[in-house]
Amino acid sequence: MREVRSRSLLCRTSLPGLHYSLNPYRGCLHGCLYCYSPSFLRETRPWGRFVDVKINAPEVLKEEVRKKPRKTVGVGTVTDPYQPPEARFGLTRECIRILLEEGFPVCVQTKSDLILRDLELLSGGNSEVGVTITTLDEGIARALEPGASTPRRRARVLEEFSSRGISTWLFLGPLLPSLTDSEEKIREVVEVAASTRSLLIYDRLNLKRGVMGRLRETLEELSPETLGILLSPSLRSRAWKEERERIERVCREKGVRCEPAFGSS
Ligand code: SF4
Repeated sequence: MREVRSRSLLCRTSLPGLHYSLNPYRGCLHGCLYCYSPSFLRETRPWGRFVDVKINAPEVLKEEVRKKPRKTVGVGTVTDPYQPPEARFGLTRECIRILLEEGFPVCVQTKSDLILRDLELLSGGNSEVGVTITTLDEGIARALEPGASTPRRRARVLEEFSSRGISTWLFLGPLLPSLTDSEEKIREVVEVAASTRSLLIYDRLNLKRGVMGRLRETLEELSPETLGILLSPSLRSRAWKEERERIERVCREKGVRCEPAFGSS
């Protein structure tokens, strides 16, 4: 972990529903094997084992917000804003405080229940909260997302925010064929969305550069069948078609609003 100084924080983004993105950390200690942020960041350091802490983020942001239109800021669009160093540095909390005080709506996405620390802050402003839950199977989650909160703890985040009337969404993705995409496993996740009145957004695996290299060894042990499907473009696209149909059907049954993530339909 190293402290760095950043020259700018707010970036324009084309992500749906967002106008700016903001990431107080570069690198992510959650270390999800399927993460494609390293490719987006052109990062060659071992993913999951480093983080650059933008120590002057609040200071820079205070200056930036003075001149910008008050539009929605996605917090944690590239790396998780509530990953472990946030407990010590509190940069995400300070940035959110500044944004809300200045009248910017915020949309936060995480896999960590550290966000519950900021429940009061987020409840008091124009915010929405998204939580990624790829599966409720603790063993699979531990193998794929070693540094993130357990799925049950993430589900609790949705429960707490939703019970405060904050708009929530559950990101179900990436789906891994023959590992996390069975009827039973999808049903469990959809039930969390139903009980928390969350929108469900689903996505397939994005095989950007480096992803297969990080996944391969774990999948060889955990589910060789998954690996076989991922290595075959035709099997992969058939699996995705079936997954979409399954998710849409289960969501319809449970009365959950759902949609595919940007670019994955
Ligand atoms: S939490 Fe998000 S940014 Fe962090 S490693 Fe996992 S997928 Fe990547």
